[in-house]
Amino acid sequence: MERAGHRCEYCRVPEYLSAFDYHIDHIIGLQHGGPNSLINLAYGCSPCNWKKGPNISTLLDLDGPLIALFNPRTQDWFAHFETKDGLILPLTVTGKATIKLLDLNTTAKVEERLQMALAGFYP
Ligand SMILES: [Zn+2]
Repeated sequence: MERAGHRCEYCRVPEYLSAFDYHIDHIIGLQHGGPNSLINLAYGCSPCNWKKGPNISTLLDLDGPLIALFNPRTQDWFAHFETKDGLILPLTVTGKATIKLLDLNTTAKVEERLQMALAGFYP
C-alpha cells in the first residue's frame, strides 16, 4: 500500500477517493508460478483486480501475438499510459493490451477520473 502511494497500480485511482475496496494482486498468479512475495505483488482497486484475475497477457487480435500485461514491479506506468480528460490512453502495445483486458475506460470510470483530475487528484 505504501509503495503504491495508496493508489491502484493499474488505473492510478487513489484509494481515499474510491468507492471500492482495494486488493493485493499477484502480478504473476500463483498458478503461473509467481511468487507470494513483494516483488510479485501489486496494490489494486477491486474493479481492476476482478478484471485482471490470473491473467498475465491477452490478445489484441485473434490472429495476433499474445501480449504481456503491464507489470507495475518492472515497468513505469507513465511509459505505457497517459491520461486525457479521464481517459487512460496507451503509449505502447503493453498499455493497449492492459487497457483492453482491465476495461479501464468504461464511461463510469472515465467520468470518475475526470472529476478527480479536475480537482487535482488524478493521475
Ligand atoms: Zn484500478
